[in-house]
Amino acid sequence: MKIGIIGAGVTGLAAAWDLVRAGHEVHIYEAEGQVGGLASGFRDDGWDWTLEKFYHHWFESDSHILSLTEELGVRDKVLFPRPKTSYWVDGKILRSEISPSAIFLPLPPIAKLRFAFAGALMKFFPTWKPLERVTAHDWLMTFMGETAYGKFFRPLLIGKFGDEYQKVNMAWMWARVKTRTLRLGIFEGGFQAFLDTFARALTERGVSIHLKTRVDQIALEQMQPTLTIAGAQYGFNRVLSTTSPSLMHKLTPTLRETNYGDTLTRLRSIGAICVVVATKQQLLTDGTYWLNLPAASANKRENRFPFLALVEHTNWMDRAHYNGDHLLYLGDYVSPSHEYFRLSDDELTARFLDALPTVNPAFSRDWVRKSWVFRAPYAQPIPYVNHSEDIPSLQTPMPGVFFASMSQVYPWDRGTNFSVEMGRRVARMMMG
Ligand SMILES: Cc1cc2nc3c(=O)[nH]c(=O)nc-3n(C[C@H](O)[C@H](O)[C@H](O)COP(=O)(O)OP(=O)(O)OC[C@H]3O[C@@H](n4cnc5c(N)ncnc54)[C@H](O)[C@@H]3O)c2cc1C
Repeated sequence: MKIGIIGAGVTGLAAAWDLVRAGHEVHIYEAEGQVGGLASGFRDDGWDWTLEKFYHHWFESDSHILSLTEELGVRDKVLFPRPKTSYWVDGKILRSEISPSAIFLPLPPIAKLRFAFAGALMKFFPTWKPLERVTAHDWLMTFMGETAYGKFFRPLLIGKFGDEYQKVNMAWMWARVKTRTLRLGIFEGGFQAFLDTFARALTERGVSIHLKTRVDQIALEQMQPTLTIAGAQYGFNRVLSTTSPSLMHKLTPTLRETNYGDTLTRLRSIGAICVVVATKQQLLTDGTYWLNLPAASANKRENRFPFLALVEHTNWMDRAHYNGDHLLYLGDYVSPSHEYFRLSDDELTARFLDALPTVNPAFSRDWVRKSWVFRAPYAQPIPYVNHSEDIPSLQTPMPGVFFASMSQVYPWDRGTNFSVEMGRRVARMMMG
C-alpha cells in the first residue's frame, strides 16, 4: 500500500516504523523543519547536546518507548539518573518524592497519615475505569482530606488546568501517579538525538520524510484518501493524521457532517508555555531538578509565581553537555486565548524572571546569558468525567483515513511512550 502520514512527531514515526517494515510505501509530511513535534529540541552554539523545547523525560515504566530503543539498537544510550523533585510550600522547598523528609511535611499528624494513605491508594489501585466517574477534586477531598489536598494537590491541579481543575477526572490523576518512577530517563544527546536516530532508521528502510511540507486538506476522491499539499493532490491507499483534534476537524471537510466530527470538536485541551533560560549560575542550590510551584487561582496575576513549574535541567543533566550553561525551564499551562500566547517573548520572559529572586534572593538579571520562548496551543488534553465515552476511534468514518492524537491515549496522560503504543496500534489497524 501507499501510505501518507501527516506529522513527524513520535506517533507518526512509530506508525511508519511498523508500516515500512511490513513492506509498505510510506510518506511522512511534516510542517516544521525537523522531526519530533512537541518532543523536539534545539541546540545553541557550543552545546554538544540538544535541549528539549518543553521539558521531557521518560519513566522506567515507559515500556513501549524502551522496547523501541531496543529495536533500534540504541537502548544503551538511554540514561536514567535520579533527580530531586520538590514542592514549594509556605516559602520552603520540600522534597516531593518518597523520602525520609516526608515525615517533616508541614501537616498535622492526621493529615499526614491521610496524605500517605491516599498516595498509596492511588499508586496501588489496580484499574482506572471506576475512577473516571468521579472528579480528582472530589476523590482527593474525600480520601486525602482538605488539609493535605489543599496544600499539595489542589495547587497543582489549578496550575495545570486553571478554571477547569474541578472537572478533571480521577482516572487522569491515577494514571499519572501509577506510571511515575523516581529515576527519570533521557537519550544521550537529548530527545532530538533520539528522534533523529529514529528518522534515520526510517529513511534507511525507505520512508520518505518531507519536512517543511504542510498538508492543507484530507479528502476522498473516488473513494481514495487524498492529501492536498501546496495546491496539488496526492492519492494514497491509507492516510494517518497525527495533528490536534481541532486541526483534524479543519483539514477534513467530509468529517464535519459526521458524529465523528462532533466528537472532535467536543475534546478539550490546554496549551503550554516554556521560557528557557541559560544562566551563568545555579538557581536551585539545593540540587532540585523539578520544583512544583503553588497556584491558588487560575488568574496568574493573583499567584505568588506567574508560572507552574521551575525546572533546573542542569540539576539533572551535566551542564558540561551545554558548554557550562545552567539551564532553567519556567513552564506553565494556559488556554491559547490567554495573554501568555500574545505577549512578546521579551515581555513574557521579563514577567517570569521577576519571580526568580523569590526562590533564590541572589538571582539577578545579569545571570542570564540567553533565553528562548516556546508555545504550544495543543499541549495537554483535559479529561472530564466518563471521558472514555468521548474518545474518537483511531479509524474515522472516512474509508482509509485514520486519526491518532494525544487526546486518544487516555486513560494515560499524554507522553511519548503512549504515542509509540498508539502509533503502532494504528499501524496494525491500517494494515488490517
Ligand atoms: C509541556 C510538555 C511536556 C511534556 N513532557 C513530556 C515528558 O516528560 N515525557 C514524555 O514522554 N512526553 C511528554 N510530553 C508529551 C509528548 O511531547 C507528546 O505526547 C508527544 O510528543 C506527542 O507526539 P505526537 O506525534 O502525537 O504529536 P506531535 O508531537 O504534536 O506531532 C504532530 C506533528 O504534526 C505536525 N503537523 C501538524 N499539522 C500539520 C500539517 N497540517 N501538515 C504537516 N504536519 C503537520 C506538527 O508540526 C508535529 O510535528 C510533553 C508535552 C508537553 C507539551
